[in-house]
Amino acid sequence: MILLTRIHLLLIPFLLLGADSAWAEKRTWTMTNGRRALAELTFAEGSFIFLRFGPLERRFELNEFSQVDREYVRKWVGKERCAACNLPLTTRIKKTANKTYHLSCFHCLACGKSFKGGDRFILGQWGNLVHSQHQSQTFQCGSCRRFFPRRGASTKQQFSDGRVVCRVCLQDAVFDKETLSELHTELSAMMKDKGIASPEGKVEFKLVSKRELNNQAKRIHVGGNLKGLTVSRFRKESSKGETTVTFSHVIYVLFGMPKAELRSVISHELMHVWLNERGVEGPADVIEGFCNLGSDHVLRQDPSRLAVHLMENMKTDKSPVYGTGYRKMIARLKQIGWARMLNEMQARGKKF
Ligand SMILES: [Zn+2]
Ligand SMILES: [Zn+2]
Ligand SMILES: [Zn+2]
Ligand SMILES: [Zn+2]
Repeated sequence: MILLTRIHLLLIPFLLLGADSAWAEKRTWTMTNGRRALAELTFAEGSFIFLRFGPLERRFELNEFSQVDREYVRKWVGKERCAACNLPLTTRIKKTANKTYHLSCFHCLACGKSFKGGDRFILGQWGNLVHSQHQSQTFQCGSCRRFFPRRGASTKQQFSDGRVVCRVCLQDAVFDKETLSELHTELSAMMKDKGIASPEGKVEFKLVSKRELNNQAKRIHVGGNLKGLTVSRFRKESSKGETTVTFSHVIYVLFGMPKAELRSVISHELMHVWLNERGVEGPADVIEGFCNLGSDHVLRQDPSRLAVHLMENMKTDKSPVYGTGYRKMIARLKQIGWARMLNEMQARGKKF
């Protein structure tokens, strides 16, 4: 699935050739399979890079590119860049703490004024800068955590349940059941790759508001800043000495999440389904940490920039359950692999 997406994306730039001359560093990239595309390098880390084609930004493996391209990336990484716009720094720069900016980029996104000595400002995760006293004039995207000015935000970016999203995340946000079910099919296949069998019981998805999600969570005594929730039910029937157990699951997910985030949430919840059908119980950090392995597996293959950001957030999450639990389980997974990991979890299961 992901592979297909990647091929499609690489075809798109040919239509855009010459359409946008504003990019400072667009160049032709050549893949080892002979494909070529015009794009701008926006991010590089370890074995992967991000290329931007017009409005699209996608991840690729560096070793899929020619020697010349790899050399370009090596030099690109070595250049000092503006913390706000990511372009190389020229002569007029502004240094603050350990970050450096173009003079023209060193301004508050709320009031537009350049920072002066003594100004207090906040640096967002995406390089956005805002005066501390102007933070109330900004929104923070509920999905990618980017700051953006309140003024100019469209009503579409402000959901009825109080959540707000940035324009980038809104572009990719899911509000319909068809896309949800496509993602479900795609993710089930990805999880099967790791030995996570499809559920025996029926899985129903519901796209809901934050309010409704919280209400459902309250009914089963769950709290926290939730984006998804799984409610599993089982029915036991005995006839002629034989007992059969049937399951049914409802997965609630928030409407309006961008695809990468929704993928991460759905795969986390599908891990709960797998655990629930096996009667697995355990400490919250083990259960949630395990379910985050599903998100990890899926995000690793998601080609969007947001996926890297979400992975980063999981790695640094301070929550003892979701963060520490995830780090504990990923370390264990690296040691023993998926097959043994699934066996270990299954061994915690009880009979119904
Ligand atoms: Zn800049
Ligand atoms: Zn300001
Ligand atoms: Zn966003
Ligand atoms: Zn969970």
